[in-house]
Amino acid sequence: MAKVILVLVDGLGFATAIREMGYLEGLVAQGEAKRWRMRSVLPSLSRPAYESVLTGVTPAVHGITSNKVNRLSRVPGVFGEARAAGKVTAAAAYSWISELYNGPFDPVLDREVTDGPGDIQHGRFYVLDPFPDQELFWQADLLVRRHAPDFLLIHPMGCDHMGHEHGGESVEYRRAAAESDDALARLIPAWREAGYRVLVTADHGMCKDGHHGGTDEVVRTVPFYRIDAQTGGVAAEEADQLSVAPTVLTMMGLKPPNSMAAPILS
Ligand SMILES: [Zn+2]
Repeated sequence: MAKVILVLVDGLGFATAIREMGYLEGLVAQGEAKRWRMRSVLPSLSRPAYESVLTGVTPAVHGITSNKVNRLSRVPGVFGEARAAGKVTAAAAYSWISELYNGPFDPVLDREVTDGPGDIQHGRFYVLDPFPDQELFWQADLLVRRHAPDFLLIHPMGCDHMGHEHGGESVEYRRAAAESDDALARLIPAWREAGYRVLVTADHGMCKDGHHGGTDEVVRTVPFYRIDAQTGGVAAEEADQLSVAPTVLTMMGLKPPNSMAAPILS
């Protein structure tokens, strides 16, 4: 069993990841990481996809069918399963993640959570989309150093924000992806030394015109990197986004609940 960090880069499409994430692609080339092409759920929207990534079921099943369905998750998920097993959970993420797993979000009182009663035990949450990714990565590293969580979700918004502002083929969007890759290049070596296994993926991609939600390949295909000494290279088969949750739990040494039926990515 291992401690797991899941980096969910909001709005990072598959082709942009390969083109811009030189550190992660270098790990793939060296055989220290394995990369899958992954297909997002539909609608290819943030809140439905967050819930699918973290519960392993489709929006039709978990019921978070729109960004405007704002309520607690009602199906078994990674945070709740880990907490029930006595694991320490943490997140540095957008406030919608807190709304899904901790409850109604007050932008002042709920932005910092230390040993809270919700499924996310330790949290740092932001509300505004332009919150700088580098600030978020520092907050995430603080959670690692201070609480050594067994499961940590890191959720930067820079790609999605720049994609909406400037389009999915803009230099601003591509630069946001490169900046996340560079932040990871400075953090992942120390996390691996501390015993963490790191996964990097996205909720959905981004259209040329700064939009997502539908079925275009550029919005449905996202990367999934497993940075893990035992595996490496490029996966031959396409992966399903519903595989993320059972893969995380299995890496932590926990048995996924029956609702998480998609194959483990290893
Ligand atoms: Zn978006």
